Amino acid sequence: SLDTPPSAGSSSDPLSAYRTTHEPFYRPVADEVELFEAAYGARMPVMVKGPTGCGKTRFIEHMAWRLNRPLVTVACHEDMTASDLIGRFLLDAQGTRWQDGPLTLAARHGAICYLDEVVEARQDTTVVIHPLTDARRLLPLEKKGELLHAHPDFVLVISYNPGYQSLMKDLKQSTKQRFAALDFGYPEHALEVEIVAHESGVDAETAGRLVHIGERARNLKGHGLDEGLSTRMLIYAGTLIARGVAPAAACRMALVRPITDDADMRDVLDAAVGTYF
Ligand code: ADP
Repeated sequence: SLDTPPSAGSSSDPLSAYRTTHEPFYRPVADEVELFEAAYGARMPVMVKGPTGCGKTRFIEHMAWRLNRPLVTVACHEDMTASDLIGRFLLDAQGTRWQDGPLTLAARHGAICYLDEVVEARQDTTVVIHPLTDARRLLPLEKKGELLHAHPDFVLVISYNPGYQSLMKDLKQSTKQRFAALDFGYPEHALEVEIVAHESGVDAETAGRLVHIGERARNLKGHGLDEGLSTRMLIYAGTLIARGVAPAAACRMALVRPITDDADMRDVLDAAVGTYF
């Protein structure tokens, strides 16, 4: 699915709908901004790795703004095929008309194309991204009979959650080795407090309590929880609190209930909430 309808673009700038004029808030965790800039300078494809909700998408949004490039984001899913990325012929009153898919749009006009959770997509999608990620920078549009040379400003970025990896769903080495990679994790305490406060509107003290709860829950990963409690969830809890919900109820709703159905695990997490609120 596209983040913005393609029809929103004007003919003079087909990517106008994908440009951001306001700066997306992003707090650098280490030297990822400089590293991404260097990779983009060389038009090197980049993979951002890490658990869900830890800032990968926000980082790419920020970098697109910083580099003054439009950003075409595609949330990959298990039914997504190569055609969904490349494009297809549509039937209308005038006959058939080719419509570029999001990857083609980005490659043709020079956007950053961000394929979120690319491992979810069907295998045939890797066939189309490979020639785009090597020196050829080509996108064959077989149905249309066009061999598209990527725009000089185009670059491909993918996200990947190593925690989800299974034998059935993992990127092939031949795909992995085409990307430079940046590791993302949950930000360290003070930084995460700042992010939660900024994004949700709660004060630093409340944000600090939420981050403590998050850190406790993350220690349970592998001991009953499959995935750590994300920064995104802490922001949800903060947002509810900022809207007047009692903190304990907000935490139950935003932190505990979504992450587990196991009654014992819920008790453990509720107790952690009780320690701080
Ligand atoms: P994902 O890793 O799943 O792509 P997101 O980028 O959507 O996660 O992050 C979830 C939310 O966490 C963002 O909407 C943003 O509010 C917040 N966030 C996480 N890390 C940062 C950061 N370093 N700076 C600013 N916001 C962040």
